[in-house]
Amino acid sequence: MNWKSPREFRSFTYRQSGFELDKKSGPDGHALLTLKKLKGETREIPVRFHRDLPDHSVIKELTLKKDATGEWYASFTIDTDAPEKPESEAIGPEDTVGLDLGVLNFIHDSAGRSVDRLDLSGDRERLEREQRSLSRKQQGSNNWEKQRQRVAEVHARMSNKKRDFKHKLAHFYTTEYDAVFVEDLNVRRILETSQNARTKAEIGWRDFLTILEHHGDKNGCHVVEVEARGTTKECAECGVETEKPLWVREHSCPACGFEIDRDWNAAFNVQQRGWTRLGVVHSEDTPAETATAVDTLAVSASRVCRGNLDRLSDAV
Ligand SMILES: [Zn+2]
Repeated sequence: MNWKSPREFRSFTYRQSGFELDKKSGPDGHALLTLKKLKGETREIPVRFHRDLPDHSVIKELTLKKDATGEWYASFTIDTDAPEKPESEAIGPEDTVGLDLGVLNFIHDSAGRSVDRLDLSGDRERLEREQRSLSRKQQGSNNWEKQRQRVAEVHARMSNKKRDFKHKLAHFYTTEYDAVFVEDLNVRRILETSQNARTKAEIGWRDFLTILEHHGDKNGCHVVEVEARGTTKECAECGVETEKPLWVREHSCPACGFEIDRDWNAAFNVQQRGWTRLGVVHSEDTPAETATAVDTLAVSASRVCRGNLDRLSDAV
């Protein structure tokens, strides 16, 4: 097949003086973007926004891009002073969270949330259908061109969903906590997962870490990578290491008797390593005390997309 991934076809950049953004006067749910000097005229374009729009005064640049589906996107470059990240001495252990990046689920965190992977199976089926249909059309024909557009649209929708999911998660963690600890992916559990699952998951994690760091800077939250070796084997309660194959989903410590979900135990280890790494002062409180107080909260991907991950509201 001759399909190429969606690329930007064209783009224009405007300086601040070349346009006006009015957030209120567009049609229902839209802002109004007025471009000046388009052949001496002005042109008004209603824009639908995917995130909160900044005020016109802080926008430095506007870039209009056309993607492979023919849709135009406006992106704004803004100047902001990144907020200061709090001093480590001022951070309480409860203001931090450890994330275990999973293969079966997306994240298990030290507060007990288990965040599901995004389910794209419906989109994948649709993509295969559209691609099959494309392969039956004569290359270069009008129908082929139309079908190529459809394939591009499915691709674009899938990557939008993935991006939205990761941005919402990253936003939640970096606004809810002062420090987020994650495993260093370079040495992560190389032998634990099959090659294929690992490679796919790793691409997702790396992408998520980049997004997480971006949101950390934006929201004044530390994002710190910690040594990944042994986070699964080690008992978060007593530190004794036990071998566990991947199919063993529970951590059950032969030395101290601590029992907890395997990934939650790993998330506690990540959190504790983060405390040491960042210099967060913590008491001798043990994970067992925290973990027995709450059950794992299963968080669906659709809930992430609605932006509702609050642990406390679900404690009942
Ligand atoms: Zn133990």
